[in-house]
Amino acid sequence: MTVAESQRLFFALWPAPAVAELITERMAACLPRCRRIPPANLHITLAFIGDVEATKAVCVQQAADRISSREFTLNLSQTGFWRRPGVVWIAPETTPAALIQLHGDLSRALKDCGCQPETRPYHPHLTLCRKARHGPTTGMIEPITMLINEFVLVQSRLSAAGAEYKILRRWPPAR
Ligand code: ATP
Ligand code: MG
Repeated sequence: MTVAESQRLFFALWPAPAVAELITERMAACLPRCRRIPPANLHITLAFIGDVEATKAVCVQQAADRISSREFTLNLSQTGFWRRPGVVWIAPETTPAALIQLHGDLSRALKDCGCQPETRPYHPHLTLCRKARHGPTTGMIEPITMLINEFVLVQSRLSAAGAEYKILRRWPPAR
């Protein structure tokens, strides 16, 4: 019997290395005891695809090719804590229309390719640490500007050492 190869995929916004370093530095002093995410792994998930075989992986990429996104900026200034997963996060104070549009377009693309739709409301955020028992010591920080000039398709490999991410493709905004 042959087993079809599957990949664990998601669409994301990936901060430039300097922005990821800045977030890590600014937040270092106010994080509780937790498993911190290294700067290179910080991201905003746009749409989680999950484990899919090649046919679906191709389908979602072709659907992404048809999306025309715009350039925009996010002002990351809000921090928070989700108790159940023990996640401390940073997020934009408001979600720009361009991000709502991009998230909607990608969600429809996934649905059209037969992927399981996400039922929870979308809360764009960067997970800063996991396994936290309480939240950060501050709820707001001086805004950090994250320029969004592409979205990316990422492969995730999970192991005991934590997730390993690989950017497979990038989609710049339409001209
Ligand atoms: P780990 O699972 O080891 O804690 P991770 O959650 O970062 O690491 P993945 O589970 O591969 O790695 O998830 C990749 C991204 O997709 C993460 O940002 C994660 O929060 C998000 N994600 C995972 N599962 C879902 C889901 N069912 N719905 C929405 N987003 C998800
Ligand atoms: Mg996970």
